[in-house]
Amino acid sequence: MSFKDLQLNRPILRAIAEKGYDNPTLVQEKTIPSVLDKKDVIVSAQTGTGKTAAFALPILQLLFDKQDSPKKGRKIKALIVSPTRELAIQISENFKAYATYTNLESAVIFGGASIEPQIEVLRKGVDILIATPGRLLDLHKQDVINLDYIQTLVLDEADLMLDMGFIDDVKKIERLCPKTKQTLLFSATIPFKVEQLASTILTDPKRIEVAQNSSTSKNVNQLVYFVPKKDKIELCLHLLRNTIKGNIIIFRRTKYGVDKLEKTLIKNGYLADSIHGDKSQTARQDALNKFKKKEVNILIATDVAARGIDIDHLDAVVNFDLPSVPETYVHRIGRTARAGQSGMAYSLCSADEKTYLADIQKLIHLQLDVMDDHPFPLDPKAKPIVHKSAKKGSKHKKGRKSEASKKKKKRWY
Ligand code: AMP
Repeated sequence: MSFKDLQLNRPILRAIAEKGYDNPTLVQEKTIPSVLDKKDVIVSAQTGTGKTAAFALPILQLLFDKQDSPKKGRKIKALIVSPTRELAIQISENFKAYATYTNLESAVIFGGASIEPQIEVLRKGVDILIATPGRLLDLHKQDVINLDYIQTLVLDEADLMLDMGFIDDVKKIERLCPKTKQTLLFSATIPFKVEQLASTILTDPKRIEVAQNSSTSKNVNQLVYFVPKKDKIELCLHLLRNTIKGNIIIFRRTKYGVDKLEKTLIKNGYLADSIHGDKSQTARQDALNKFKKKEVNILIATDVAARGIDIDHLDAVVNFDLPSVPETYVHRIGRTARAGQSGMAYSLCSADEKTYLADIQKLIHLQLDVMDDHPFPLDPKAKPIVHKSAKKGSKHKKGRKSEASKKKKKRWY
């Protein structure tokens, strides 16, 4: 299928051709016709599948066909609610690129940044608004935002939004929009609470599922290192010296952990920066830009800060801490091997994280390959927890074998 088959108009086709998109991705093929048909949708798609364009392109097309007269001024007709500032900025950049050859205007608002410039942009009038929930409600309360003309509401990364405690804000925003609007709900996973939200705000939605919630890309080689907690930093340094190369994201569970690791890596001569919720918006954006421009090759992040962020050519993801929620592992791994590329995922697992590993393996139906050829092994007598449903990881390694994986022995501690 081509973008032309999706009945997109010329200005939009021109912009996506300039972005270098040849054909629609699966989520775009399945979603764009329903959105153009003004249907509500609930879409479960992993990050990196092209889901931003899946809602942005048809929204632009619908608005392009019915533009406000310049005399009356612009009204906000599409609202995209996103859980984090980074995601909101990324979505806004996409809208701006896709709208290059239209007269449609978009703006992005988020917390943690000065409110005045955002108010100024809104006063000039925009057709499309991308917002984080808190700042949106704040500005609505101040009467800067009128949601009476919303035709399409998008809730992006709904599962993360609910995990971050935005449920009441999301419900409030939904109620502030007209009843007749179209609602598009996107979520990497559809846990019960997202299902519940969908049942209260969507009308006869079309369900679109692109990849299984629990699947990790076939192109990611996933390895696990068992290591005592106290030796994790040393093992991480050892792997960076000998095994892990290229552009790397390292995930840590806590902000404190991120800062600590960043200091250690910089002290050891690595080019590293970090993002987490306690850093100012400017500092987070600076770190991301440096990483994207390859001024640093290591980005250390918490899950919330890094969710959905689109970075081209990421070579490796390191799970310095294993996540307690198994779906988070899938999101992390989704950062690498995008658009058919291959990638590596390294997990450092301490004794207390073995149950997390077991939950992950159960979810992804795969047993990660154990790397025991390293200087900081965990007690060899400790027994692993293995779920029977997890298969051996070798099926995920077609076509790419690192030096490390050649050396590995398949053995559990
Ligand atoms: P997303 O899942 O929206 O974060 O998109 C992931 C990446 O895929 C982004 O870098 C997009 O620019 C890119 N992308 C989106 N649609 C296409 C397409 N049809 N062809 C090629 N790349 C795409």
